[in-house]
Amino acid sequence: MTYATPSAAAEALKATLDPSRKSWIESANHPLCDFSIQNLPFGVFSDARNALNGRRRVGVAIGDAIVDLAALHDAGLLTLPGLSADAAREVLAAATLNAFMAAGRDVWRSVRIQLSDLLARDNDNAALRDNAALRERVLVRMADATLHLPVDIPGYTDFYSSKEHATNVGAMFRDPKNALLPNWLEMPIGYNGRASSVVVSGTPVRRPNGQLKLPEQERPVFGACRKLDIELETGFFIGCGSALSEPIACETAEDHIFGMVLLNDWSARDIQQWEYVPLGPFNSKGFATTISPWVVTLDALEPFRVQQPAQEPEPLAYLRHGGRHAFDIALEVRLRAEGAREATTICRTNFRHMYWTMAQQLAHHTVAGCNMRVGDLMGSGTISGPTEDSSGSLLELTWNGQRPVALKEGGTRSFIEDGDELTLAGWCEGEGYRVGFGTCVGMILPALPVGQ
Ligand code: MN
Repeated sequence: MTYATPSAAAEALKATLDPSRKSWIESANHPLCDFSIQNLPFGVFSDARNALNGRRRVGVAIGDAIVDLAALHDAGLLTLPGLSADAAREVLAAATLNAFMAAGRDVWRSVRIQLSDLLARDNDNAALRDNAALRERVLVRMADATLHLPVDIPGYTDFYSSKEHATNVGAMFRDPKNALLPNWLEMPIGYNGRASSVVVSGTPVRRPNGQLKLPEQERPVFGACRKLDIELETGFFIGCGSALSEPIACETAEDHIFGMVLLNDWSARDIQQWEYVPLGPFNSKGFATTISPWVVTLDALEPFRVQQPAQEPEPLAYLRHGGRHAFDIALEVRLRAEGAREATTICRTNFRHMYWTMAQQLAHHTVAGCNMRVGDLMGSGTISGPTEDSSGSLLELTWNGQRPVALKEGGTRSFIEDGDELTLAGWCEGEGYRVGFGTCVGMILPALPVGQ
């Protein structure tokens, strides 16, 4: 699909955000459904209907269904501008989103516009809606599908951009009077994480073993982590890379972002406390990071753009951007103990509280010359809000275990126990619809036995 003028393309993109637009897939129209027609997030799935369909391929979530983009392309109802039919087929039948992301923003947007048009209820385009045999081939029930890690992730960086989180942690481990270190207000602090252990929601996570420095002993012991924690974060994927030694400007940094996911940066607090000086966390974070399977595009998040918190002192010039660069995303963490019927919501907060924006993180990350590759993942840092129940880690919620949280069906938690299932959820609330992320789930397995 090509447009006569850039403004025609912009109009078509804007129409995909119309709050009154409904889908003929009725489950998408429920006001609490994460995957409304305004959302259209991208992911990778497989299903067991036949041998061919067992292969991983690119899909888009809508209501309780997944649109198989390769099947839609085969039916002649989806084109990728600038790509031949064969090249497009290869991109859409791929086992990761990397080639699709690398195809560029015009392609992402064109697919969004074409899908919104095909899935809209009150539209002239009934090619999919009124063709039962085609619907059977193109739509997969989400309940019948397996969702996979959507991206082959070359690099993972984690930031530390919530002022409330940095203040809480600084107060707990250093000095409540000088909780924020002087550099914190001058730059988005980050470190290079471990990409190999990023896993998709639903993957069990094994409690790590490591060095623990117990207060009463001079030397560390080796054993299972006793202070296993979550970090409630969002992540964003680089869809448009950058060259070595060429910094990304803050003003245009968002052009490099494909979309966002929920991210749980599992943390072994006792291992972390012993190892993190002087070079930062290592084994305490490298054992696993869980992300949600659906990547919500920045285009879908556009109506939820809000003003970021005021920054004082004013950042250096390379970290300045005009306009609004925060997003209003409601976030929750739920904990379900093994055997419990119901989960307990232990945290409610919002992404909009973050002090440093994604654009500033990207400008800072590249300012010294570091390049970005398609598929690189950036973690926001733990998202903590201004109130006691809006902290995005158990470390803060329980104040390092001193104030355990109560669970609905009895019992308390200072840190995570074996068999606990942790679920992150997030969504933007529109007028009568949601643009949601689904969930990001991980269950904790017992540590491997420690040899004597
Ligand atoms: Mn983190």
